[in-house]
Amino acid sequence: MYLKSLEISGFKSFAKKAQLNFNSPISAIVGPNGSGKSNVAEGFRFVLGEQSIKAMRGKRGEDLIFNGGGEGARVNRAGVKVIFDNKKRTFNIDFDEVTLERVVHRDNSNEYFVNGSSVRLKDIVELLSSAHIGVSGHHIISQGEADRILNANIIERREMIEDALGLKAYQYKKIESQRKLEKTEDNMKSVESLRREIAPHLKFLKKQVEKVERVVELREELRNLYKVYLKREELYIKSEKVYIDSQKNPLTAELKLLDDEIAIARKILEDSKNRDARSNELIGIESSLHKVRIEKDTLMRELGKIEGEISAELRSISKEKEKQTRDEFKTVYLKDVEEVAKKIDILETVKEIKELLFNFIFSHKEKEDSTLLAEIEKNLALLREKKYDLEQSLKNHEINERTYILEYNTLRENIEKEKDSNRDAEKNVFRVMARQNEVRGILNGIRTREDKLFIEEEAYKKEMQEAYSMVGREALDYAEIATPEEVRSLQYDRQKNIERIKIRIEDSGAGNSFDILKEYKEVEDRDIFLAKELSDLEGSKKNLYDIIADLDARIDIEFKEGILKINAQFQNYFSLMFGGGSAGLNVIREKKRKKKSDTDLSAALSDEESEDMVEEEGEEGIDISVNLPRKKVKGLMMLSGGERALTSIALLFAITSVNPPPFIILDETDAALDEANSRKYGDMITNLSQYSQLILITHNRETMSRAGVLYGVTMGADGASKLLSIQFEEAAKVAK
Ligand code: ATP
Repeated sequence: MYLKSLEISGFKSFAKKAQLNFNSPISAIVGPNGSGKSNVAEGFRFVLGEQSIKAMRGKRGEDLIFNGGGEGARVNRAGVKVIFDNKKRTFNIDFDEVTLERVVHRDNSNEYFVNGSSVRLKDIVELLSSAHIGVSGHHIISQGEADRILNANIIERREMIEDALGLKAYQYKKIESQRKLEKTEDNMKSVESLRREIAPHLKFLKKQVEKVERVVELREELRNLYKVYLKREELYIKSEKVYIDSQKNPLTAELKLLDDEIAIARKILEDSKNRDARSNELIGIESSLHKVRIEKDTLMRELGKIEGEISAELRSISKEKEKQTRDEFKTVYLKDVEEVAKKIDILETVKEIKELLFNFIFSHKEKEDSTLLAEIEKNLALLREKKYDLEQSLKNHEINERTYILEYNTLRENIEKEKDSNRDAEKNVFRVMARQNEVRGILNGIRTREDKLFIEEEAYKKEMQEAYSMVGREALDYAEIATPEEVRSLQYDRQKNIERIKIRIEDSGAGNSFDILKEYKEVEDRDIFLAKELSDLEGSKKNLYDIIADLDARIDIEFKEGILKINAQFQNYFSLMFGGGSAGLNVIREKKRKKKSDTDLSAALSDEESEDMVEEEGEEGIDISVNLPRKKVKGLMMLSGGERALTSIALLFAITSVNPPPFIILDETDAALDEANSRKYGDMITNLSQYSQLILITHNRETMSRAGVLYGVTMGADGASKLLSIQFEEAAKVAK
């Protein structure tokens, strides 16, 4: 026995708490119409998680809460609690007793509890299915629902039987697997679409990466070329510099000396410009000399003339003197001479002295002759004076002439000398200038070479920078590179090659290689991840297919085995009920009719039969065949109400006995039975109660007589159901 008790409070007509204990394999609930018996069955449905309010004869959750009687009687919550014995661990929970409770509030909110702990509906459902108590309630047969299985179509029947056989758990698993499969397929689609989306980008990046890789190769090539090129260029520049210096330095020194030399020569020539002035000076001296000579000649002629005059005078004097010879021995007084002497002593010039003396002498001569002589003498003195002056002047002229000659000769000599040194200087200037030109010519050649080297060195430096920026620092590590001799033109070829590679790198348009490689790696990783994801999903898809196939196979096997077992029991109960005959379940395929050309089912359904219609195999379902004893008619349609009820009960019992649920509630399943059939029904109940605990809502005395516990339900004036435990005799009375 599993079911221990049910406690209802505020649920439907049960305003106050009522408890039913099920300590007998068969319990019966009896009472007048409308007293609330069916509400008890619905209490079971409710507490077991029924979600359809309609199945509990309500429209809203609120309809389940006691609403009868006066104002004060209205309650705000309906609660039902059911207690199971779990010593055999029928429920997959480690407690000896399992209490399930459900509460609904007026705001339509529900609460679920397992052993007092709040849980979700899902937990209740799982717990119940572990004990083979489905929410579908195949073990709770409501009033008027006994022949539901007969009324149902073949597919619904199959579902009911599957549920009763406990295959629902597999079905749920299958549905869940199918849902997972659908989700997996959706995920696969999204992953595939993501892969498709990134594919062109990945392809583009791959091409870029190939370009980058090509550029990496080109860079490597360029780097190696650069090393050789730069090393050779460095050596070339160094050796050129040494060579140029060795050529240039002595020439520069020579040029400096030549400059000095030419400066000296120029100075000499510069100085020779004063020669004209000297020639003029020479001419000046010459003309002065000429003038002095002319004056000298004049002076000499005048002197000759004066000397002639003097001679003439002297001859006159001689003549006179001869006349005066007598006077020559004339005596003069000493006293007169002394007087003259005295006078001379005071005189200053010779002239004065002469005059004095003449006058003295004259005074002592004869008076008649003395005048003439004095005249001559006077003339002579004048002439002599003149002559003296001329002689002085001549002497001066002679001195001047000599000076001029000396000056002239010196100057002339100088001029001659100068002329010689000028000639030398001129020669030197020509010589030095020629050498200078020669040296300059050579130097120009060197300078051109130097200029070329400068340009080459600049280009080399620029190339170093470019190498650094294009292929990195490593390009400048060329010190260790070995460079055997070669012709210079090979270096030019090498440079051309470098330029070509540079252009190819630039033309590659590879962009920032680091970013591209990074992005490619990211996108590729993402693609790999997606591919992995896809293969994982493929794996789980296959897995799910396998699970579904497995479940299908299991459902199929268990279903078919179940059908066989049910059929055996059905036949058994049926012949027990009808005293013979045969009944059985057949698995058949649903026949679907549809238009030939149209796959639209709704169109096919709306159409009347026509040539275009074809039959199509549908799902598997259950057909029921019955064959009553002593009657020719066959098929469910032909059964009477009572026969129908009996057939339903036989099938119901057959189904439940194959896979017995812990308990079964039958609400007036026996309503249509006559006395004889009621007895048979009673027998079957007794039989069934070996497998499942039975709770029977009934008005039938026979049924009541089979119950170990009887509960009476009555309804008072307050509209609330009341529960009382009663004896059989009372029960029959109460039931009426
Ligand atoms: P019968 O023997 O005729 O099948 P029964 O004993 O099975 O009758 P039920 O159908 O269980 O009777 O009870 C129906 C009664 O319960 C009705 O009188 C109805 O008014 C009452 N009832 C249903 N829901 C509520 C509710 N929310 N509040 C109060 N009373 C309710």
